[in-house]
Amino acid sequence: MKISEMLKNKRTVSFEFFPPKKEEGENVLYETIKELVDYKPDFVSVTYGAGGSTREKTVEWTTHIKKNYGLTTMMHLTCVAADANSIDAITDAVDAINVKNLLALRGDYPADMPEEQRKGEFRYAADLVGYLRKKHGDKYCLGVAGYPEKHPEASSMQSDIENMKRKLDAGGDFIITQLFFDNDHYFRYMDILAKNGINAPVVAGIMPIINIAQVVKFTQMCGATVPQFLVEKMDGKSEKNQFMTGVEYAVEQCRGLIDAGVAGLHFYTLNKHGATEAVLDRTL
Ligand SMILES: Cc1cc2nc3c(=O)[nH]c(=O)nc-3n(C[C@H](O)[C@H](O)[C@H](O)COP(=O)(O)OP(=O)(O)OC[C@H]3O[C@@H](n4cnc5c(N)ncnc54)[C@H](O)[C@@H]3O)c2cc1C
Repeated sequence: MKISEMLKNKRTVSFEFFPPKKEEGENVLYETIKELVDYKPDFVSVTYGAGGSTREKTVEWTTHIKKNYGLTTMMHLTCVAADANSIDAITDAVDAINVKNLLALRGDYPADMPEEQRKGEFRYAADLVGYLRKKHGDKYCLGVAGYPEKHPEASSMQSDIENMKRKLDAGGDFIITQLFFDNDHYFRYMDILAKNGINAPVVAGIMPIINIAQVVKFTQMCGATVPQFLVEKMDGKSEKNQFMTGVEYAVEQCRGLIDAGVAGLHFYTLNKHGATEAVLDRTL
């Protein structure tokens, strides 16, 4: 089913997984999926390495989830270093497993790639969205990424919003946000979108913090900020203590979003089930 159709009727709950590199990680992910299926997600998504580095694995995991659990799946697809042929090859693979939902992304350029080499066939996600819409009409529901704290490369929030308009005008159906830890960022973002005439559904990206040092490092790369009081509360504490604080915080965050009428909650699971389960047990 298309996610855009679901979003018309309900608040969705979804889980994001990434294709592990090693067998050990694969075993963890098999187990995680098995556990989280009990929560009857509206859809799950599988990430795609920028430059196509996980292409086969992304298709394999999407196939596994769809075939064995019958869940609605969304495959992420990045256009960095891609051309029409490589994108067509992916959509052929997607069609073969009857997936109807794609998250159309640019992906990140390797930090050392010179500017002149970045002008590929699809420079921005909007180019990929436009290509997919033009070639495939309404066959796919297309999600796009949104940044409540602004994309790190954007010169201003307004220029990032102009980009969002381009992605939606090109055929994007709904938005999933980058993770954020302070609901005020989300609420402000929703206001800015509305003021700019954007009313596509915005699914909130949630990541329960279970290891503060890891999350602080990770968020520096994606431009999200961790509230200082949480850093102070969790830093140096035991694994169990951090887990409990992180879950507690995410529960409050989800409740606040639900009260405000959020379109959906998308959990960045990091391929683990414990924290997502603990949050859902106390939220839904
Ligand atoms: C929900 C979600 C899922 C993700 N999944 C993956 C994944 O599976 N694999 C992966 O590699 N990465 C993933 N990412 C990360 C994403 O690829 C990066 O954040 C990337 O840097 C931007 O991708 P985008 O699609 O938002 O790019 P774009 O929408 O193209 O925007 C990138 C930057 O370019 C700017 N821009 C766009 N158009 C123009 C223009 N015409 N002129 C000037 N500036 C412009 C934008 O403002 C922004 O700063 C995900 C992110 C999110 C939020």
